[in-house]
Amino acid sequence: MSELIKGIAASDGVAIAKAYMLVEPDLSYSHTTTEDPAGEVQKFNDALNNAKVELTKIRNNAEEQLGPDKAAIFDAHLLVLDDPELINPIESMIKDDSASAPHALTEVTQNFITIFESMDNEYMKERAADIRDVSKRVLAHILGVELPNPSIVDESVIIVAHDLTPSDTAQLNKQYVQGFVTNIGGRTSHSAIMSRSLEIPAVVGTKAVTKSVQNGDMIIVDGLTGDVIINPSQDEVRAYQQKRDMFFEDREALKQLRDEATTTIDGKHVELAANIGTPNDLEGVKNNGAEGIGLYRTEFLYMGRDNMPSEDEQFEAYKKVLEEMDGKRVVVRTLDIGGDKELPYLNLPEEMNPFLGYRAIRLCLDQPDIFRPQLRALLRASVYGKLNIMFPMVATVQEFRDAKALLLEEKENLKSEGVEVSDDIELGIMVEIPSTAALADVFAKEVDFFSIGTNDLIQYTMAADRMSERVSYLYQPYNPSILRLVKQVIDASHAEGKWTGMCGEMAGDETAIPLLLGLGLDEFSMSATSILKARRQIKGLSTTEMTQLADRAMNCATVDEVVTLVKDATSKTL
Ligand code: PEP
Ligand code: MG
Repeated sequence: MSELIKGIAASDGVAIAKAYMLVEPDLSYSHTTTEDPAGEVQKFNDALNNAKVELTKIRNNAEEQLGPDKAAIFDAHLLVLDDPELINPIESMIKDDSASAPHALTEVTQNFITIFESMDNEYMKERAADIRDVSKRVLAHILGVELPNPSIVDESVIIVAHDLTPSDTAQLNKQYVQGFVTNIGGRTSHSAIMSRSLEIPAVVGTKAVTKSVQNGDMIIVDGLTGDVIINPSQDEVRAYQQKRDMFFEDREALKQLRDEATTTIDGKHVELAANIGTPNDLEGVKNNGAEGIGLYRTEFLYMGRDNMPSEDEQFEAYKKVLEEMDGKRVVVRTLDIGGDKELPYLNLPEEMNPFLGYRAIRLCLDQPDIFRPQLRALLRASVYGKLNIMFPMVATVQEFRDAKALLLEEKENLKSEGVEVSDDIELGIMVEIPSTAALADVFAKEVDFFSIGTNDLIQYTMAADRMSERVSYLYQPYNPSILRLVKQVIDASHAEGKWTGMCGEMAGDETAIPLLLGLGLDEFSMSATSILKARRQIKGLSTTEMTQLADRAMNCATVDEVVTLVKDATSKTL
């Protein structure tokens, strides 16, 4: 019998493949001593060798698919496996104290980890992390337990996990990973956002999919509805294969719209831009006919590595994006770390509420040694295209002024160093905190543009964590309160002759698009894969009608009333 599990549809498409469980295995052991020390030493050495073979394979794979930077992490791990200062005491403890291999390994490595972690030195702290990783791998080999490792799969799989971090997601091998399903997360968690840019069908927030699925089970992931079917029948497989084929056909048909303008039936043009995480996403941007980049999430440059990217490294990435976009507008957002995007090498203290904590512009203003190199890299790259710079999570006018002052200071510094900087950089902010939306008329006098970050604006307005599947019912993009805030921001910008875009996921949402058009949004920025669908939809709408629709929606009491209004008004086009 097949089993149906419901989750949140996070990335369009249908996948049918075997499950690959990405869950922490049980690495507990029962014996701390041994009666056969020689045999245990042998076991330990065999495990070391097997770990080396495995790590070398992972390292080579990482180099091939993700480049030498990412492979370097595994080089460090291989060095640990060869370090006599670590290996010798483990062997001695087995021989001299009759400790079992797992126990000796755990005791000795934990000693090193404790010492290194207590040092006030970045480098040593990173070594502690390396030792922890390596010791887990060796322990798994001693115990004969397999560690999950999606980067070395060589057949089609669907990843099943409790959660996937953004850096896990970035390392998924698109050739084999057909889809993914997680217990937690919502449509706007960053792993969901990345699955859309990778065009991998995904369902998140299923609560307990990892309890129902076994490694190797056949599963179907329907990223259009949020359904996951475990061990489907032949009939179900056939039906979903058909659905998958239709999805691909529609995607092909949409390609016709790639070079068309996005103009409503009554002649209003709006801009459809793409959200990107890395320069690797540019191919999708071009294939989907984006008119610009409305959000470049630069934090991904800082993630999945163990040190800060240098100013030059950043400059190269920004330059590449600007050059490839060939004069089209590129809105680059400065570092927005925090929430579900962590940087372990910053060693930030844990907080009770990371989404409300020390993050984004707050961290950058507090640590200018992190912020300034990024600003310099951006300014240096500005001459290679049409650059807009945007600050994230701005809560007060003073924060914007302080960030702008740092930018201007770096601009002057560069000029006095003889470096050319564009004088045509627009400076804007993300509107994702209700205080900023409330004060939009004041901000509008100082910024060049707004980009509404609804992923966060909704969670802060509704006080509903965007990662939590339990309160996901409160995560209501079409709630009249959100529509009113959006309207207020758009009107405030227009009153000052400025423009407003939206780069939260709401901008690419089929039900939201008619409302946003009616509210007067100038630019819609979304996952590249949503652009052509949005273009088809907008080309069938009338701005005059949508303005009336939005007016009525803002006066509704509930989100259900709004959805019904939109469905009725657009039944011809939806
Ligand atoms: C947002 O909050 O809407 C946004 C686009 O930023 P992020 O999803 O990266 O937090
Ligand atoms: Mg945000």
